[in-house]
Amino acid sequence: MTGASTETDAARVAVVTGAASGIGRAAATRLRADGWAVVAVDRDADRLAWVDATGDAGLVSCSADVSADAGNAEIVAAALDRFGRLDGVALNAGVASSGSLESQSMDEVDRVLGVNLRGVILGVRAAIPALRASGGGAIVVTASVSGQYGDPTMWAYNASKGGALNFARAAAIDLGADRIRVNAVCPGPIRSTGMTKPLERHVPDLYEEMRSHVPLARWGEPDEVAAAIAWLLSDDASFITGVALPVDGGVTASTGMTRPGFFTR
Ligand code: NAD
Repeated sequence: MTGASTETDAARVAVVTGAASGIGRAAATRLRADGWAVVAVDRDADRLAWVDATGDAGLVSCSADVSADAGNAEIVAAALDRFGRLDGVALNAGVASSGSLESQSMDEVDRVLGVNLRGVILGVRAAIPALRASGGGAIVVTASVSGQYGDPTMWAYNASKGGALNFARAAAIDLGADRIRVNAVCPGPIRSTGMTKPLERHVPDLYEEMRSHVPLARWGEPDEVAAAIAWLLSDDASFITGVALPVDGGVTASTGMTRPGFFTR
């Protein structure tokens, strides 16, 4: 569903969580450009201000916490109240964390699991009745390459993203009969987001080190993940459900034992 809006496109309604910045903001912008009416969701109301600043009646903001039952009910209600239906859901809100496997506090672990895993489960469950009422629809979960493999000290994040990824597959199976597709995108290193800006700005050697592991030899852009989300939500992906699509510049094509250039040094 790319290019100019048509009447049919304009009737489609999507919600995007974690839309205050980074990948979620890019996805909300992309879906709107593709002709969807969009509810842009984040728990950070101040950083959602960009949405209302557009002055676009087809793009509205909703401040809600995805880790809470009530937050997910508010999100679906916002789509129905404002646009009368729901067709697409991008469950993208997330938080990162790292710490010692032995001593990181379980409060912190619960926080990460609460947003990245519980938030996705609640988001899917809350959306089902509205998607069913639309005759079906599509959901995309922003997982991560860190949901496919492990990272040093990021075990809580790895567990949350791995759980969200496999939940998306299981949900695809259970919701297929309702014509609701569920897929995941697995971004690799994506620059210029709330999560990665601090590294980019303040730890240039680690930023460069991470780039050196990417076969495409660069960080990805939020727009490149947004394009994958928009495609999976669109009818162009109408027979695709239960997949985990890497958007990672080739990171997960590697065994991880070597990085590009290893044998030519
Ligand atoms: P980001 O910080 O710019 O975006 C995440 C957004 O989620 C923030 O605006 C934050 O306020 C919001 N959020 C957090 N908890 C929330 C809650 N409880 N309720 C509602 N909103 C909440 O970072 P990003 O990199 O754009 O992250 C988007 C998604 O992409 C995340 O799920 C992240 O794990 C995933 N991801 C990012 C990368 C990367 O390299 N940037 C790589 C793989 C996966």
